[in-house]
Amino acid sequence: MKNVFPSEVMRSKLLHNSEMMWDTGCLEWKGAKNENGYGRLWNGQRLVYAHRAMWECGNGPIPAGMSICHKCDNPRCIEPEHLFCATHAENMHDSVVKQRRRNGAEKRRGKPSATRGAKHELAKIGENEVRAILKDHADWQAKPLAEKFGVSISLIYGIRKGRNWGWLKAEMERDEF
Ligand SMILES: [Zn+2]
Repeated sequence: MKNVFPSEVMRSKLLHNSEMMWDTGCLEWKGAKNENGYGRLWNGQRLVYAHRAMWECGNGPIPAGMSICHKCDNPRCIEPEHLFCATHAENMHDSVVKQRRRNGAEKRRGKPSATRGAKHELAKIGENEVRAILKDHADWQAKPLAEKFGVSISLIYGIRKGRNWGWLKAEMERDEF
């Protein structure tokens, strides 16, 4: 087993690969990122999230079951002042609220909605059903699943591909925040 870098080493790696945004005060990570824009770096043993690594430099190990969240809602930000530790449930709530706000803003700007064709169907199912489709019935064929929930096969595909309820799919795939 390789050793994890000491926190001074991690801190200097973080500071060398980031840039202060003077307008927002965000310290933005310039290195590798995942598809959601969260910074990733090697800690000597494995890839970790840059914002989590920065929080740990100042505060020690993140308690089990806790997430490191952004007050600034900027996934690439690693500014310690912009990070806070919250339970996973609080984080889910926070990001769902932010996502809804973003969706609302997109609608107001007139951005075409990807869910148009399925909109009337979406009303038939709720968050629990979508979770069941994505998780409990992940190995089901689309057709019996569509019949079970009384929706079209295309909606099942839409949910699985993240075209519909994409924020929920993203939340469920984010395990380490
Ligand atoms: Zn920030």
